[in-house]
Amino acid sequence: MAEQDKPIAGGCACGHVRYRLTSEPMIVHCCHCSWCQRESGAAFAVNALIEADRVELTKGNTVEVPTPSVSGAGQRFSRCPNCQVTLWTNYLGMSGGMGEMIRFVRVGTLDDPAPFPPDVHIYTSTKMPWVALPPDAPAFEEFYATKNVWLPASLERRKVLQAAAGSPVP
Ligand SMILES: [Zn+2]
Ligand SMILES: [Zn+2]
Repeated sequence: MAEQDKPIAGGCACGHVRYRLTSEPMIVHCCHCSWCQRESGAAFAVNALIEADRVELTKGNTVEVPTPSVSGAGQRFSRCPNCQVTLWTNYLGMSGGMGEMIRFVRVGTLDDPAPFPPDVHIYTSTKMPWVALPPDAPAFEEFYATKNVWLPASLERRKVLQAAAGSPVP
């Protein structure tokens, strides 16, 4: 995925928080797990995975809210202190110490989410029966092997993170 000239900007509902992504994400997940359903109050969560240092806060501040996760390691929601909309989350149990390095930006908080459809659907075993996926959409009942799904350029970006985290590259 190429760097793009146009900033990819987003923000919360009340306007206190504004942010921009300095490149396209590595991948966009649509997660149908029951945890994402509960946390979003909806049928699924759409998350753009991107290096933390490619998310620039351009206005306001976030508050970090610890939240339980299925792994037991916990996650952290970054919310607007006023309207409490979640802008992104970090999964602290991610392998190789990458939990702090990858933000899961909530695609619905982008000013224009349309250019970022899901690259992959995950945890479809708990998908709502009335959600129909596009027939050609990559979908997994649980999770997937990154090397089989991510585009080569994104795998290269992941390698950089793994090297920085000091974890072995599989
Ligand atoms: Zn707000
Ligand atoms: Zn989920």
